[in-house]
Amino acid sequence: MYQPIIGLEIHIQLKTKSKMFCGCSADIWQEEPNTHVCPVCLGLPGALPVPNKKAIELAQLMGLALKCELAKESKFDRKNYFYPDLPKGYQISQYDQPLAVNGELKTRKSKGKTTTQISKLLRIRRVHLEEDTAKSLHEADSTLIDFNKSGMPLMEIVTEPDIRSSEEAVEFGKKIRQVARWINVSDADMEKGQLRLELNISLKKVKTQKSKVKSQNPKAEETLPAYKVEVKNINSFRFLGRIIEYEIKRQTKILESGQTPRQETRGWNEKGKTAAQRLKETESDYRYFPEPDIPPLIFSGKYVESVRQKLPVLPDELKDRFISKYNLSEGVTNQLLESREVTDYFQSLANFDLDPKQAANLILNRPEVMRRAPKQVAGEILKSEAEVLDSEEELKKIIQKVIDENPSPVAEYCDGKTAVLQFLVGQVMKETQGKASPQPTRVLLEKLLV
Ligand code: ZN
Ligand code: MN
Repeated sequence: MYQPIIGLEIHIQLKTKSKMFCGCSADIWQEEPNTHVCPVCLGLPGALPVPNKKAIELAQLMGLALKCELAKESKFDRKNYFYPDLPKGYQISQYDQPLAVNGELKTRKSKGKTTTQISKLLRIRRVHLEEDTAKSLHEADSTLIDFNKSGMPLMEIVTEPDIRSSEEAVEFGKKIRQVARWINVSDADMEKGQLRLELNISLKKVKTQKSKVKSQNPKAEETLPAYKVEVKNINSFRFLGRIIEYEIKRQTKILESGQTPRQETRGWNEKGKTAAQRLKETESDYRYFPEPDIPPLIFSGKYVESVRQKLPVLPDELKDRFISKYNLSEGVTNQLLESREVTDYFQSLANFDLDPKQAANLILNRPEVMRRAPKQVAGEILKSEAEVLDSEEELKKIIQKVIDENPSPVAEYCDGKTAVLQFLVGQVMKETQGKASPQPTRVLLEKLLV
């Protein structure tokens, strides 16, 4: 029996006004090719990079949200390799002094209504900053290059290989996306390439069910398989799941035949199948060395504290609060927490002295209310809907009273003399002093008489 050992590398484009090391606008989506370029991001000789302060802050904010330690000293390094979309022949990245290290992310499932338990822990190895490459467009007999994307700020999040299934990988991937959106460091829109996934996967032999590695305890997995397969450029969570399932089957076959899968980087196709691309590079292939054009980064305690102040309450904390304070179900809570905008709106309604369950339902079932109505109006809608409901409850009580007090007309009605209904409606009107409207009263009466 084999157990998958999975780690993720997630590249997220940061939401900054300008690129990572130059003043070019970072607003490049669907812009004319090669219109957002300058000597720095075109890699022209002699051009000097200047780090984007905002990008550094956003990556640090993500580090804090993932419970990492922030480095007091950091630096940029050159990662050397040749590819046409990399005009300098190296990518400015971070090697041995990333901005943040040793974080964690938990998935939580609620048990009962008040307690939230941790179901799985994923350790975050590091968060670092780098520049994106240009974009190649392959045509029939030529390749075109658009340098708009060259030098865009990219944050890379590397996890430890703590993931044990395709479901977990997708769950954690989505959770990282949720956090990035929540703290507003990126829109993380995968269709725009703002979030890209890389996967590393190997299979570990497990002897018996009992000796199965407990993933909550990282110490239990000190011995990792002797090989690792990487799959790059995964642009959807659906494909991530499929690719993992495919690799589990493929690697199991190889291992069962007594061989070891090759250490390599694989590509994938639309069916989720992977194919060998190249033998995996080792770190030494990149000849990393410190970027001589950028001085080391030193962060004061005061600065780090100022970044920490910018961190909002995270979804996990709110989840506990929503479930215990507002008595909402886990499903509804998760739906609300999918976006910070929806959550904020819900909280302002809940503070409005409205029933939180009704407020949540209104927002989730009728999103147009949130889009169109200012909070005050949504409050009024909810309140008037609550009144209708209340008075229907009230009406029911009165009808029941009329039924109880008029046994013989009720018996006649039940015998098929439906004309008696008019008399009973009249009794209800009398009882409510004409406030009930006849049509709903008739409908309710018929219901209650069955
Ligand atoms: Zn530029
Ligand atoms: Mn990278």
